[in-house]
Amino acid sequence: MINVPKGTKDILPKDSYKWQFIENTARQTAKLFGAQEIRTPTFEHTEVFLRGVGETTDIVNKEMYTFLDKGGRSITLKPEGTAGVARAFVENGLNNSALPAKFYYITSCFRYERPQAGRLREFHQFGVEFLGSKEADIDAETILLAKTFLEKVGIENITLYLNSIGCITCRAEYSKALTSYLNENYDKLCPLCQDRLAKNPLRILDCKNDDCKDITKNAPKIIDYICDDCSNHFEKVKKLLTVAGVEFKINPNIVRGLDYYTRTVFEFVSENIGAQGTVCGGGRYDGLISDLGGTDTPGIGFAVGIERILMLLENTGKTIENPNTVQVYFAPMGEKENEKAFELCTSLRANGVIADFDHMGRGIKAQFKYADKIGAKYVAVIGSNELDNGVVKVKNMTDGSETEVEFDKLKEFIK
Ligand code: ATP
Ligand code: MG
Repeated sequence: MINVPKGTKDILPKDSYKWQFIENTARQTAKLFGAQEIRTPTFEHTEVFLRGVGETTDIVNKEMYTFLDKGGRSITLKPEGTAGVARAFVENGLNNSALPAKFYYITSCFRYERPQAGRLREFHQFGVEFLGSKEADIDAETILLAKTFLEKVGIENITLYLNSIGCITCRAEYSKALTSYLNENYDKLCPLCQDRLAKNPLRILDCKNDDCKDITKNAPKIIDYICDDCSNHFEKVKKLLTVAGVEFKINPNIVRGLDYYTRTVFEFVSENIGAQGTVCGGGRYDGLISDLGGTDTPGIGFAVGIERILMLLENTGKTIENPNTVQVYFAPMGEKENEKAFELCTSLRANGVIADFDHMGRGIKAQFKYADKIGAKYVAVIGSNELDNGVVKVKNMTDGSETEVEFDKLKEFIK
């Protein structure tokens, strides 16, 4: 037997309807905020992520699926959605389109990580990117979109953590202060962070190692270093969120994993799924488009991990109704009855009723067993008597009640 590669999963019909629910909710919510779908390739030139995600990030350093194709080009499976969208924005000259350009996507992402609950090698993101506005209200709107989506799928008790990491100028100032503090505690840092210290000290604030967390707790806070412009922007974001009734907590250690973030950064974190509690992360990335060779264009976005959403819903006992189950299953008791079942099924389907009938030549008992297994709501028995009288005997599989229904009244009865 050949198994799926480590860190990947089959999504079987017993679960796929849950995915459809999440995806439909994502599409509906994005649409309400004026966003349109963008689909970019599953793989890009590696350069897109080197520049668009950043060379000092975990993603680029450790997690990318990178290979040479048969033409000798370096190709990478997308580890996240933003860099590809930014590349497409620049390549298609969308800075000349109506701005802000509002995009959303639902996509597979690939990261070579140690698989565990809520951490896979192929996982799925719903993400949003708003490009072209530097105003604080679009930051608030982006956060509100994420929150609306989380509410609509049924997630409760989730905390929004907010921070501002300033612009390139104020961050340089902060970086100095942070480096000097961390240098004093160099010996207590994990080896990885010791290495990060020279390359990108901010990343240490994000480290999951407990010793590092202890040290960074007392580190200088970026919020105390941001310039007036960045500070005003952040105040406005907070004010708008408050007006919209969105609760948040300021968390100075949120810096996000990616190099391109500026100013507003945020995460939605749940206490209900253990270590992989971050279901959504996002922020502003005013330097990204120009880093990718485009006209300087500000942007903001977020990405939600769909597996983590489903995990969270499951762990909190939320169920999603399966809208795909068969509404009526016909159990014909002979050749002629079978033809009638075929005819009735066809007409019901044409009227939007999910209908099916026996395709295995089974006896009536086995047909009921099958109908039960597939969760059919009604079973419609057609025997020779029924055929003669132009009726079916309909059994309600939930309460066991039986009703005789004329052929042409079936649609109303089922619906
Ligand atoms: P983490 O800190 O958990 O590694 P991250 O900062 O790497 O997350 P992002 O790059 O911000 O994650 O991706 C956005 C969202 O995608 C995360 O909040 C999470 O819900 C989801 N996600 C990230 N990596 C994985 C993965 N390997 N498997 C499943 N979901 C993931
Ligand atoms: Mg990660």
